[in-house]
Amino acid sequence: MKELSSKRILVTGGAGFLGSHLCDVLVAQGHEVLCIDNYFTGTKRNVSQLADSPNFELMRHDVTFPLYVEVDQIYNLACPASPIHYQHDPVQTTKTSVHGAINMLGLAKRLKARILQASTSEVYGDPEVHPQREAYWGNVNPIGIRACYDEGKRCAETLFFDYYRQHQLPIKVLRIFNTYGPRMHPNDGRVVSNFIVQALQGQPITVYGDGSQTRSFCYVDDQISAMVKLMDSEPEFIGPMNAGNPNEFTIRQLAELVIELTGSKSKIVYKPMPADDPKQRCPDISLAKKQLDWEPRVQLKEGLRHTIGYFDAVLRGDPSAQDRREEAKSSAAS
Ligand code: NAD
Ligand code: UDP
Repeated sequence: MKELSSKRILVTGGAGFLGSHLCDVLVAQGHEVLCIDNYFTGTKRNVSQLADSPNFELMRHDVTFPLYVEVDQIYNLACPASPIHYQHDPVQTTKTSVHGAINMLGLAKRLKARILQASTSEVYGDPEVHPQREAYWGNVNPIGIRACYDEGKRCAETLFFDYYRQHQLPIKVLRIFNTYGPRMHPNDGRVVSNFIVQALQGQPITVYGDGSQTRSFCYVDDQISAMVKLMDSEPEFIGPMNAGNPNEFTIRQLAELVIELTGSKSKIVYKPMPADDPKQRCPDISLAKKQLDWEPRVQLKEGLRHTIGYFDAVLRGDPSAQDRREEAKSSAAS
């Protein structure tokens, strides 16, 4: 029988980078977790450490199709997050965000379940307001190559707020800023994994544009803690809420830091800037501080060291790569 405080929780996209860390935390808290994924960018390996847990179940399912299960809470993370992956099949990306939101909101409505949307800083597009506050409506090109992701996520937010207003559904919307850490896919294409893998392999570090564009990088454990705190917060705290690390770096600074921390001989090479690449991005996290008493704890150097350790193990084919992550976790917590 289920313990009273233990909930049945659905995590969509649970075999991905963030989803797998979320499943770890929820299972450790004693909840029953149902993880669904179509394995487009996620892998069963990301959740293999949970396979023997009686509280964990993994199911292949695509969120663009309806799902009939019984749960108390839903975390909706299913969607490729890296530009190369979401641009690979842009129509499917929009479908995943929009049809996926409709299906998961419909499920939540039938069950009267709390539902959290993993939204993104991309809803701000190439922002003209800096740092970005939740009240800013954004500057998104609706017909550009990033629109399948940005507009899909914006439409998902619209659906969440309409279900809230029309059906009084208990919603939570978290706007996630660039998050990195162990279990990112080595060929994921995002900047942190690209630079670390290139540095470890002694290959050129590919900076797009002149590297003066900025991002603010949040370590995965901090991000998951914001997500769980928002889900468990007062019902009136529905968001949208920014979660990210407000320390801002240029991409060139990131490249130099990765070279320094890996001790690599790699040289920086400059490649053309992709279309619609935001020039600056930095979260204003005052709302999360106020409502959740949350702020990131792991700063970039420390988070990069853990992530480098993980990728080093993965690239050497070390089966204990998963353990390297556990080491990283305990030293980040201490
Ligand atoms: P990821 O690509 O590692 O994970 C996404 C997961 O969703 C994968 O396991 C993938 O297989 C699965 N998926 C994709 N389409 C699906 C579908 N139609 N049905 C079922 N599963 C599907 O990416 P991530 O970094 O873990 O991102 C997770 C969520 O967080 C995404 O919704 C993303 O938009 C959001 N987010 C992430 C970041 C970040 O920096 N990591 C930033 C902003 C928002
Ligand atoms: N970027 C880069 N080299 C790479 C990958 C990315 O210079 O090999 C840049 C990219 O152009 C962007 C920033 O790093 O300006 C962050 O890119 P990422 O794809 O990680 O995330 P997003 O653009 O969605 O924030």
